[in-house]
Amino acid sequence: MNEPEPFKIKMVEPLKKLDKEERRKKIIDAGFNVFKLRSSDVYIDLLTDSGTSSMSDEQWSEMFKTEQAYAGSDSYYLLEETVKEIFGFDKFVPVHQGRAAENILFSVLVNDGDFVPNNMHFDTTKANVKHKGGTPVNLVRDEAYDIDKKVDFKGNLDTIKLREFIEEKGADKIPVIMLTVTNNTGGGQPVSMDNIRDVSEIAHEYDLPLFLDACRFAENAYFIKEREKGYSDKSIREIVKELFSYADGFTFSAKKEGLVNIGGLIGVRDEDLQERCENLGIIIEGFPTYGGMACRELSAMAKGIEEATTYEYQRYRHQQVQFLADRLIEADVPIIKPAGGHAVFIDAKSFLPNVPQEQFPAQALTVQLYIESGIRGVELGTSAFGELDKEGNIIPAEMETMRLAIPRRVYTLNQLNYVAESVIRLYENRETIKGLKRTYAPKLLGHFKAEFAPL
Ligand SMILES: *Cc1c(COP(=O)(O)O)cnc(C)c1O
Repeated sequence: MNEPEPFKIKMVEPLKKLDKEERRKKIIDAGFNVFKLRSSDVYIDLLTDSGTSSMSDEQWSEMFKTEQAYAGSDSYYLLEETVKEIFGFDKFVPVHQGRAAENILFSVLVNDGDFVPNNMHFDTTKANVKHKGGTPVNLVRDEAYDIDKKVDFKGNLDTIKLREFIEEKGADKIPVIMLTVTNNTGGGQPVSMDNIRDVSEIAHEYDLPLFLDACRFAENAYFIKEREKGYSDKSIREIVKELFSYADGFTFSAKKEGLVNIGGLIGVRDEDLQERCENLGIIIEGFPTYGGMACRELSAMAKGIEEATTYEYQRYRHQQVQFLADRLIEADVPIIKPAGGHAVFIDAKSFLPNVPQEQFPAQALTVQLYIESGIRGVELGTSAFGELDKEGNIIPAEMETMRLAIPRRVYTLNQLNYVAESVIRLYENRETIKGLKRTYAPKLLGHFKAEFAPL
């Protein structure tokens, strides 16, 4: 039996539900792109788990107590203590969100013509590598692309591929190896401690730094506790400490497991690298003791990281995702299995087998779910990850999914039940869903602003 939520609700936010005709008009006005909807026109918002968490009374009270100062606010030192205690890093640079961490780190490390291996790049990570003239390379194990294959650690990086890649390109062309925990793009799938250790060993053999893209580090730690031999008696914090011990640095979006609405971190061990990141950070983010945020945001982040690394919280979190996944699996809706840590990913290729990827099946599904039920998911398929060849033809993405991300501590099981029923109903009526054509898209991260039209 599931344990109930480890909190009670002190403040509520009323929801508004438009009728279907209104929603149809809204999505037409939005160019069939849910990023262009007003959030007040959305009933249940599963666009992202990023920056959408409910904060605790402890976090709010810490924010009120924080002194606002340009330099040397106590909030920086509170965060420093947390980063030391939880991550085991004493050098860090606060930034306003994960992509700012990526921008600074890759500006400092990546040169034109370099390669950055990762198990799988997230969209902003990929874009930031490219933006600095580098080539992002995904070296996740092959099973990651097999949606039905139940593997405990589907996010693992393939170490044979990694070795071959380093030998082929030469270590001098690789400024950093990244490992994304959990692998968001590949379905929120975890990476095992064994794999982190192996990747770290290979990196260090070639004298290369290993950085974690640590956005969902604590969810990953929970999976290690549940699934990996030798970890069931360890606390989430002990696992987290070990996980980070193999890394030379990390980037982190606190909008996920910092349980805050804005914030991020770069963690490093190398003094010179910290200096370079801080100096660039001063130009683009702000003085290092506030890092582009109000000081109170740093306090909330420090508390949030503590809360996210408790077992009770993680168990609740994983039970919510599992609940939605189980309901959909019972109804044969094709999802990535096993369920990931922060979201359920629906496989649009199997959901809409008659819509070719050039017609954006995951986008079509996302649009139809909004029209039918007022639920906003997000496309992670050819719109987000596809490429164009020289003639401008679409090269489809490897995976074609609609992600339903679960914001932290926001929705009840009853609301998730509504989501499950809505998706199941959509699946029963799937023949009515047609593909889309893309009428506009900017070059980098084009999916945010892309526009579509019915075929
Ligand atoms: C969210 C995310 C990022 C980027 O963080 P933002 O705070 O959205 O800029 C990078 N990597 C992964 C794996 C993420 O999930």
